[in-house]
Amino acid sequence: MKIADRLKRFEGYEGREEKEGIHLDKNENSFGLPKNFKDEIFEELKETPLNRYPPIDPVVLREKLAGYIGSSKENIVLGNGTDPLLPLIYQLFKSEKVVINPPTFAMYSFYAKREGLTVNRIPLDGDFEISCAGDHMKEPSIVCICSPNNPTGNVQPREKIIDVLETDNLVILDEAYAEFSDTSFLDLIEEYDNLIVLRTLSKAFALAGLRVGYAVGSPQMIDSLRSIRTPYSLSVLSIKIAIKALENKDTIQKSIDRIVDERERIINEFKNYAHPSDTNFILLDLDAYDYLKERDIYVRKMKGELEGKIRVTVGKDHENDMLISALNDFIGEKR
Ligand SMILES: *Cc1c(COP(=O)(O)O)cnc(C)c1O
Repeated sequence: MKIADRLKRFEGYEGREEKEGIHLDKNENSFGLPKNFKDEIFEELKETPLNRYPPIDPVVLREKLAGYIGSSKENIVLGNGTDPLLPLIYQLFKSEKVVINPPTFAMYSFYAKREGLTVNRIPLDGDFEISCAGDHMKEPSIVCICSPNNPTGNVQPREKIIDVLETDNLVILDEAYAEFSDTSFLDLIEEYDNLIVLRTLSKAFALAGLRVGYAVGSPQMIDSLRSIRTPYSLSVLSIKIAIKALENKDTIQKSIDRIVDERERIINEFKNYAHPSDTNFILLDLDAYDYLKERDIYVRKMKGELEGKIRVTVGKDHENDMLISALNDFIGEKR
């Protein structure tokens, strides 16, 4: 048997080594879920039969999500994380090309290459804003836009998103960090049926380990995606816990508020180095990856166009204290 040529030297996604220390490298919600909340969940799970398949269509979860974002369940398809929704969307549309706006989330091109699609890179401008609505968009493409963008932290201007939607290409708008921002473009799905918005419970909802994501779009498009998705892809445990989390939005909101306060505290501390952020992480113009690692603080080392910078996830208060103190030492030693 022969391995497909394009997958022979496929560059897989690298994970981090699990070491003791402060982990500010993956944009998780560092606060996690409160203990009493977890206890309640585990109590309920005791009664959950594991010998039975989960519902083919977890309608209750779709309804809860619809209530949460203010749309209807017909607008929502679930994924085992948002990640597997990307290749699903790529497979649905007749397009050879995926447009990405680097520096951005690595998974858009990872799945494009895996599916054998061409990746067209149209870099963000000096203000980290998209500039992909021009002439190079004549052929039908799938355009991936991340807003707020990982790893730069900024939201895209509404007019620029609309400009791309007006080109009739399919737009995948990734709003994984929307809860940390005042800006969302979800309302645009009413007007544009070439728009799919991706959301996740991995970040604000502190459920990265559970793997629950969803796509929001027009009922026709969502219906087609639902028909080609892997059956039973969400486990009974994921479905139950996700529903419970959505029923406890107030608790989640408290941790979001704390993260936003802590984010602004860190940004204020490093005014000369920090980029503004609408997320739970901050891009810093400090080449401090190794320095922090030696102190058991793990952050993301940036490469390519952002070489020499780091991306730090907002941690718990005491973790941020340690980060701030280490970075101040770093800056002091450089002088
Ligand atoms: C973390 C993240 C996601 C979420 O991925 P899941 O598969 O839902 O955990 C999606 N997009 C971006 C840009 C992210 O940073």
